[in-house]
Amino acid sequence: MDNPIGLAAGERVLLVDPKLRRYLLRLRPGETFHTHAGILAHDDIIGAPEGSTVLGSTGRAFLVFRPTLADVVLKMPRGAQVIYPKDLGAILIAADVGPGQRILEAGVGSGALSMALLRAGATVVGYEIREDFAERARLNVADQLGENLEYRIEVRDVTEGIAEQGFDRVVLDLPEPWDVVPHAARALRPGGIFLAYLPTINQTGLLREALAKAGFALAETVEILRRTWHVEPRSVRPDHRMVAHTGFLTSARTLADTAERAGES
Ligand code: SAH
Repeated sequence: MDNPIGLAAGERVLLVDPKLRRYLLRLRPGETFHTHAGILAHDDIIGAPEGSTVLGSTGRAFLVFRPTLADVVLKMPRGAQVIYPKDLGAILIAADVGPGQRILEAGVGSGALSMALLRAGATVVGYEIREDFAERARLNVADQLGENLEYRIEVRDVTEGIAEQGFDRVVLDLPEPWDVVPHAARALRPGGIFLAYLPTINQTGLLREALAKAGFALAETVEILRRTWHVEPRSVRPDHRMVAHTGFLTSARTLADTAERAGES
């Protein structure tokens, strides 16, 4: 996406206050934005280049940027709990997501994973059981990536089946993915990749059993530990706090005959 240098009215921006608190807002002429560190006039931001310093009403300096995908995921309105950026990055590689692929995603939740898949150039069909979450995700995704996307959400229960076939990837974030495995076996093309995100290892064990039974190959389960560091000249060490647990990622591939075998059972 080509962005002009100056920030324009209607764009979404990230503000960072002197204490490194982050705020997301959409620029509207004439409006003001209220923060703990003072009030800012949108008009002082409109037209400024990214990386500018803007002064608030109390004289404190804010930095302004276009937000990254991670900024948006952590700050956007949520229906369901989102997948953290550290896991989104790992999912893109584990499921080898790329331009032109057709992906079945379920459940869609707040749309964080959808955004990562779409931004990588994939076409996404999302199944979401809750109408309100589907609507939230549509808004979140359109807000960040625009309306003109290869993205469709259907309000339906993916454990009851996948209506289309020939998907390159099936990516799941829901509590009982083992119930989806037989459907995924039929919906994926040979050599396709299945990936599920699960918060507990008990669930992961059940999923691995279902994948083995359905004839998936190369199954792998990983967790991503991300530790930030405190870096100052006299004190370089890991930060005291970290997000110690989010979820486990399990991926596997379909074989030439996985769909046929699933069709028979
Ligand atoms: N990955 C999403 C969050 C998903 S939360 C994100 O990053 O934003 C899990 C979602 O799965 C919830 O929205 C829930 O409503 C949905 N869900 C649960 N069971 C489902 C099912 N059987 N079929 C479709 N969606 C389901």
